[in-house]
Amino acid sequence: MKLQLTRKRTEIPGVESFIFKPEEPLTWKAGQYLHYVLHHEPTDNRGSDRWFTVASAPFEEEVMITTRIAAEKGSSFKAALMALQIGDSIEISAVEGDFVVDNSAGEYVFIAGGIGITPFHSILKEADHAGVHLRATLLYANRDANVPYKKELDAFQKNNSDLVVHYVTAPERIDENQIKKLVPDLTKPTFYISGPEPMVKSLAEVIRGMGVTADRIKLDDFPGYPAE
Ligand SMILES: Cc1cc2nc3c(=O)[nH]c(=O)nc-3n(C[C@H](O)[C@H](O)[C@H](O)COP(=O)(O)OP(=O)(O)OC[C@H]3O[C@@H](n4cnc5c(N)ncnc54)[C@H](O)[C@@H]3O)c2cc1C
Repeated sequence: MKLQLTRKRTEIPGVESFIFKPEEPLTWKAGQYLHYVLHHEPTDNRGSDRWFTVASAPFEEEVMITTRIAAEKGSSFKAALMALQIGDSIEISAVEGDFVVDNSAGEYVFIAGGIGITPFHSILKEADHAGVHLRATLLYANRDANVPYKKELDAFQKNNSDLVVHYVTAPERIDENQIKKLVPDLTKPTFYISGPEPMVKSLAEVIRGMGVTADRIKLDDFPGYPAE
């Protein structure tokens, strides 16, 4: 299936959103992702396909990719994405992924490293729209105070007294001490961790070490980025 670019937006310097209209109606759950193919010449050794979370919420009926555009050593794929004009198309294959919230009555800790916020943006936007008060604590780490989606996240928090958002800015990091401080009771919530692969793997180890069992941990790791 093809998606047609309708809009582009800069979220913060270096983080861009691309909004597409599906050729045919597309059904997905907040938190899922798509496989994209963008043919371009010349193609570097990182290739012409990528996976991206659908950062928009299902009720919006349009697909948004939000991604970091590297200042240096960026791929030819991202250069081709940046060069897309309104009306141009990108190919997708089937929706995938289980990084979704099926039980809206559950208790959650969402941990995002940088651009790893995309599935949480979709999940929280869908819940906000549906008036579902998810009981969630979001720990969101960024390299500086320029935070993608901050305005929206603050609005979701305002509309839902059961949602708490903690922004963690470098040099502060999400680590065992931060988690202990911000999540006093580790026995109930399910932990969702999303971000650069090295960060997701190491934080998963940390929370396992804190006694959180595997059935309460869900991971969504983005390859191709260094640790935040
Ligand atoms: C399920 C899933 C969901 C995802 N969702 C998202 C999402 O919502 N948003 C998102 O941005 N990404 C997402 N990703 C990651 C995405 O697919 C890309 O891997 C990522 O964006 C990096 O893109 P890029 O390879 O084009 O590198 P670029 O972004 O162009 O470069 C990133 C940096 O990587 C370094 N680098 C990495 N490989 C090389 C290399 N071979 N040579 C030189 N330098 C290199 C460079 O220093 C560069 O600065 C997801 C991945 C998965 C699997």
